[in-house]
Amino acid sequence: MEILQQVFDKVAKRNPGEEEFLQAVKEVLESLEVVAKKHPEYVEAGIFERIVEPERQIIFRVPWVDDSGKVQVNRGMRVEFNSAIGPYKGGLRFHPSVNMSIIKFLGFEQIFKNSLTGLPIGGGKGGSDFDPKGKSDNEVMRFCQSFMTELSKHIGADTDVPAGDIGVGAREIGYLFGQYKRIRNEFTGVLTGKSLNWGGSLVRTEATGYGLVYFAQNMLEDINDSFKGKTVVISGSGNVAIYACQKVQQLGGKVVAMSDSSGYIYDKNGIDLDLIKEIKEVKRGRIKEYADKKSGVEYTADCSKIWSIKCDIALPCATQNELDLDDAKLLVKNGCKLIAEGANMPCTDKAAEWLVEQKIPFAPGKASNAGGVATSALEMSQNSMRYSWSFEEVDEKLKGIMKNIYTNARDTAKEYGMEGNLIFGANVAGFLKVAQSMYEQGIV
Ligand code: NDP
Repeated sequence: MEILQQVFDKVAKRNPGEEEFLQAVKEVLESLEVVAKKHPEYVEAGIFERIVEPERQIIFRVPWVDDSGKVQVNRGMRVEFNSAIGPYKGGLRFHPSVNMSIIKFLGFEQIFKNSLTGLPIGGGKGGSDFDPKGKSDNEVMRFCQSFMTELSKHIGADTDVPAGDIGVGAREIGYLFGQYKRIRNEFTGVLTGKSLNWGGSLVRTEATGYGLVYFAQNMLEDINDSFKGKTVVISGSGNVAIYACQKVQQLGGKVVAMSDSSGYIYDKNGIDLDLIKEIKEVKRGRIKEYADKKSGVEYTADCSKIWSIKCDIALPCATQNELDLDDAKLLVKNGCKLIAEGANMPCTDKAAEWLVEQKIPFAPGKASNAGGVATSALEMSQNSMRYSWSFEEVDEKLKGIMKNIYTNARDTAKEYGMEGNLIFGANVAGFLKVAQSMYEQGIV
């Protein structure tokens, strides 16, 4: 980096200690150096300085009362990062690890991801350090109502449309929507990931996992290959992991390992997805129960060791920085031929760089997991029209969007002489549309 080093230095100074955010900004700016050289007008208009600074950051207190009558206080936040191409759009994460660095890294990545979908959505992200795990439904409801009481002042169907993320699924979206409607007295598409009974879109639940596998399928087709007969390892066992597993199985692949934050299971005969869904979606249990219920399954109480399992394809679908350089080397040594990110930034920067250097086909999450937000944007369209498309219609649109994202990232990389580097291609393709829009809208 030459021109953009100064931009990065300023970001580092202004956001001390925000490791995840700085990691995400650095990775993008490194790709954009060539764009800065090609487009001096963007440098002059301060596009790079502006795109790394959120348009708005909201932090608020979330008080609620637990089942024993004790007052609890969490911190809520929403980062409205960039609205150059549409209303802010991005999920809410409820997890004890949530802080401003994590929300800003996610919001920043979301700008480029949303741009890549080709749909009119800006970038944002939010959440809280609230941990839904072990809480009763009533506690989760009271928390969500308190959280939305403040958040409702800042969002709206044409302003900012949050969705789910880690710890925020259909249950939480329901409680959040109910409270928004009560406060504002309006029934609008202010959240996505809604239940099908009241404005949700078919395929939204499956979209991120399915989209990831469609993306990887496009990569495989380019090398005359497919998922058929492939052994696949998927980390996590949440929304993204479960539907990635389902699509891999539908395409003839065999998923042999999945995990949660306590450990991983290895089932050499192939994961029984109905059992995983029963444990994770219905009972909100631990993945260890899978090994307790099924013979011949190995359980290891250390989720980070999942990458030691031999596979053809690895799909990290749990959380950020869960796959490091040693894991990447071990995967490749054991014969892994393709890695596609389902989670946001699950590979450390060193792991991702090394994979690209080794020319191992590697899909960055901001491109390969964009199916979720793309389908959220389709949910917004259906809400505006007060109309619903069929499962097949939405699935076809999702397939088309993932193909476009892949070809756009691939061809952009090629155009700039970086063939095969999808990190570069995704960053540059995602950036160009937002940058040009910011340029045309003046200094705001
Ligand atoms: P969920 O909350 O549904 O699931 C997260 C899963 O990851 C859980 O099984 C959780 O286990 C597990 N997990 C968390 N930390 C670790 C760890 N260190 N090692 C192994 N497993 C771990 O979240 P989602 O599936 O929705 O999200 C997963 C990732 O995908 C996140 O990075 C998210 O930002 C990203 N993403 C999600 C989208 C969506 O539509 N949902 C869209 C685009 C990206 P446990 O139950 O023990 O906590």
